[in-house]
Amino acid sequence: MAVTPASDTVLYANGVVVTMDDDSSEHAPGWVMTDGATIAAVGAGPEPDAATRVDLHGAVVTPGLVNTHHHLYQTLTRTRAQQADLFTWLRELYPVWSRIDAEAEYAAARAGLAELALSGCTTVFDHHYVFPRGRGGLIEAEVQAARELGVRIVASRGSMDLGVSDGGLPPDELVEDLDAVLAETERLAAALHEPGAGAHVQIAVAPCSPFSVTGRLMEESAALARRLGLPLHTHLAETLEEEAYCVELYGCRPVEYLERLGWLAGDVWCAHCVHLSARDIEQFARTGTGVAHCPTSNLRLGAGVAPVREMLDAGVRVGLGVDGSASNERGDLFLEVKQALLVARGRGGGGAMTARDAIRLGTRGGAAVLGRDDIGSLEPGRCADFAVWRSDGLELGGADDPVAGIVFAGPQRVDRLVVGGREIVRDGALVHADEAEIAQAHRFQARRFAR
Ligand SMILES: [Zn+2]
Repeated sequence: MAVTPASDTVLYANGVVVTMDDDSSEHAPGWVMTDGATIAAVGAGPEPDAATRVDLHGAVVTPGLVNTHHHLYQTLTRTRAQQADLFTWLRELYPVWSRIDAEAEYAAARAGLAELALSGCTTVFDHHYVFPRGRGGLIEAEVQAARELGVRIVASRGSMDLGVSDGGLPPDELVEDLDAVLAETERLAAALHEPGAGAHVQIAVAPCSPFSVTGRLMEESAALARRLGLPLHTHLAETLEEEAYCVELYGCRPVEYLERLGWLAGDVWCAHCVHLSARDIEQFARTGTGVAHCPTSNLRLGAGVAPVREMLDAGVRVGLGVDGSASNERGDLFLEVKQALLVARGRGGGGAMTARDAIRLGTRGGAAVLGRDDIGSLEPGRCADFAVWRSDGLELGGADDPVAGIVFAGPQRVDRLVVGGREIVRDGALVHADEAEIAQAHRFQARRFAR
């Protein structure tokens, strides 16, 4: 007797399936079967029965990309301080950013998240650290935008408490009181954080950087995060100026500073890590500290190129980030996959990174950095989060390896994006929102912001 397939099952068939499992299995042609929000089976050969069958016509299927570092609000301030290094850029932009409010944040988040979704990204970490006095609802606005578009978000309650009059970089009017930061972080975690597998909204604790946060707030943030079971994030070792700043103010280099604060640990990941020594890399590997590699932003600000090959060889967890759109005007995570490959080869030669290594950084690597084992690969029981990339366009003509082709010839717009079994991009267009309306509302807010 034939068994009737469960009504929630969907078979995505006739694709090139890149699982990113432990064995780097690929199925060509292959299929992915979802059952509601999770993956039921992945394979090649005879197709299982499912309630619905979708033919992918030879398209490449990868796990959904995971963005491990971003500042969504910065979509409002692209192309500023075009020739500046990090500190000059920040000093020019802090006063502009101080105008952020919930209305602008919502428009910025919708635009940034839409751009990421259209680049194949299913999970976004956002590092928000600008909280002007008297403006509430900023994190809630981001979370609302993510829910509407259908992407998973890890939103951080970031912070700055070291103003210019105390030796920090940000203006005094943009820094907050330490107790207020911690209380607000705890409130947001109680209201929004979903623990466990399949979470769509999570909260991280993310003081901004060594040059904008006191050591005491770093320590108390870590204590709070560990009490509440939240992940910890900060910027680190982005530029040589930052290193000189740390040596002058704290008497040590950035990684040693983090170690003193109890921040080298498996629940921590740091953005950039461009200027790590061999000993620093060994420390990251030994302690399980993760890295968000943001190659385009690092090039845009002339910061340098992170030693990612060395990190991977040492066993460091590494994911990719687009970083904010004021230092990487293109919020396309697949561009970072390609960029990671190119800069690794620029440092270490043609053998330094394969196309599949680069896809792994953007998927499984990012999931590991965020401490998530429910996303990042296509395996039974994991969340049904995946991206479908057409292989029949002009760019891939003549490519005898479509998986390498989407990297070398990338980026391209994702054809279909599935999050928790739900399609949020179909035929290269957002399913639950209107791209043109988002772009128009975003421009309106950006003009209001600039005035
Ligand atoms: Zn950043």
